[in-house]
Amino acid sequence: MPGTLFIVTAPSGAGKTTLVRALLARDAQVQLSISYTTRDPRPGEQDGREYHFVDVDTFRTLRDRGEFLEWAEVHGNYYATSRVWLKEQIAAGRDTLLEIDWQGAQQVRKAFPDAVGVFILPPSFEELEVRLRGRGTDSDAVISRRLLGARGEMRHVGEFDYVIINNDLQPAIEDMVAVVRAARLRYANQHARHLHYFDFLEQD
Ligand code: 5GP
Repeated sequence: MPGTLFIVTAPSGAGKTTLVRALLARDAQVQLSISYTTRDPRPGEQDGREYHFVDVDTFRTLRDRGEFLEWAEVHGNYYATSRVWLKEQIAAGRDTLLEIDWQGAQQVRKAFPDAVGVFILPPSFEELEVRLRGRGTDSDAVISRRLLGARGEMRHVGEFDYVIINNDLQPAIEDMVAVVRAARLRYANQHARHLHYFDFLEQD
């Protein structure tokens, strides 16, 4: 039984990382995919934990070798998901979550049509700006670029199966947990995991 693939997308500042961390703390069955990026680590970030941090040459080499399932340029940096690792995880039955942008989401859906797409919306654009500035880790130029990118990202909300409005953190966490539970209750999952409950289908 393959694992379920979750794609979580949001404009930066919408609270995606916080929500995903809370989900992982609540649900040990979900693991996070670690992307490759060419951006510099933020304070506190560790290579191999938040991202695999690589330089542009290394990124291009890996990309040209076909190592990436998807890649995108976001806010002037490259990001990508490892192809082999992800395929192995899903094939091994592990529920895996990708935190990627809308461009990556489009590419992943082609390879994994059953992937569950979740978009996180901030309560408003103004609130998004407040959150980005409050983070205090990025320069003004970076924040302006991210705000511009946020509008573009939010236009793709309709391509996702579920939308979580991150107005209040606790209800938003409950929504994330609910989405994961609902995905596990899909017919194909239930049938494969609990075959004996479906014996009656054979009894005519
Ligand atoms: P940040 O630099 O704030 O960690 O991430 C910036 C943006 O890059 C976010 O929108 C995030 O979803 C996106 N991102 C992170 N990893 C990947 C990836 O592997 N592929 C793609 N396409 N986007 C990614």
